[in-house]
Amino acid sequence: MPDFLKSLTWSVNWIKRRSLETSQAPCALGSCTGSQSRRWQRLAPRATGTFLQDAFYCRPQCLETALIGQLARLHGVVPSPLPPNRIPLGLLMVARGKLTHLEVRAALEAQRRARYGKIGDWIEKLGFATEHEVTTALALQWGCPVASSINLTTTGSPGNIPLPILEAFQMLPLNYVTSSNTLYVACGERVDHAAFYAIERILDCRTQPCVSSRKDIARQLDSMRQLPRPSDVEFGPMNDLAEMASIAASYTARLTPDQVRLSRVGRFIWLRLDVRSKTRAHFTNLVFRLATDARPGPFTRPFRDLRAATTTQP
Ligand SMILES: [Zn+2]
Repeated sequence: MPDFLKSLTWSVNWIKRRSLETSQAPCALGSCTGSQSRRWQRLAPRATGTFLQDAFYCRPQCLETALIGQLARLHGVVPSPLPPNRIPLGLLMVARGKLTHLEVRAALEAQRRARYGKIGDWIEKLGFATEHEVTTALALQWGCPVASSINLTTTGSPGNIPLPILEAFQMLPLNYVTSSNTLYVACGERVDHAAFYAIERILDCRTQPCVSSRKDIARQLDSMRQLPRPSDVEFGPMNDLAEMASIAASYTARLTPDQVRLSRVGRFIWLRLDVRSKTRAHFTNLVFRLATDARPGPFTRPFRDLRAATTTQP
C-alpha cells in the first residue's frame, strides 16, 4: 500500500476514540442485553467488538443486526438525479472566446446525429478546440482546478476506492496530503458531489475534486483493470437485500474487523472492513452493484432464516 494512503486506514484520532469508547461505551444495539454485554466487554474488549459507522457493537450478532438495518436503509435510498451542468460547456467556451456560436452549433449537430459522445469530444473531433482547452473549460464549469498531469508512479496506487466505483464515476485519486487529511481526486466527465461525500465518510478524510483529461483517466482505469486488486470484492448486479446482508455478515464474521463503514455511492453499496491488530492490518472493500431496476423493499425472508444464512456462508 502506498505511504500516502496508509494514514487513511488507521488514523491516530480513530485509535484514540476507539480505545476510549471500547472501554466506556455500551453496545449501540438497543436490543442487546446490556448487563451481559458490559460483562462481556470487561472480559474481552477486543475479541469480537466492532465499530460500525463509529458506533460500538459488542458481539458479532449485534453487528449483524445493525448491518442489516444499515443495508436496508442504503438499499432503499433513491439516488437523486444528477444536477444539470452549471453552464453548458459550449456556451462557456464561447464566452471565453475559445469557440464561435457556429462551431458550437456544428458540434451539437454532430453529437445529435451520432447519438453518442460528450459535447467536449465532438468539439475536439471537429478540431474546434484542443483537449487541454476542453479540460480547462470543464474545470471552470465545475469550479475545480485542473490536474496538470496524472502520474501514478509518483503518487502510488489509489487502492482505497474500489475500481468499479472509480470506473462508474470516471474518477481517479491523485494524491493524499497527510497534513490536511485531504484526498485529491481527478474527474474526467463531471463532479458528483454526492459520490465525494460518500467517499469522505468511508475513508474518514476530506476530498478535493479536480478535473483532468477524460482520455487520460480512462486510460489509467483501463490499465488498473489489468492489475490484481485483492482488497476489492464485487457482487452483482443484485437486488436481493437478504443476500447482501448474508454476504456482509459472512465477511464480518470471518474477518472480525475493528471498524466497518458503509455508504451508498450511486448504484453501489460500498462496505469497507478495516482490520488492525498487532498481527494484522488490512482492509477489504465489499462492493454491491445494485441492479438497475433496484427498488426499495422489505426483507422477503424471515429474520431467523437470514441469520441462519449468515452463519453458513464461507
Ligand atoms: Zn451488543
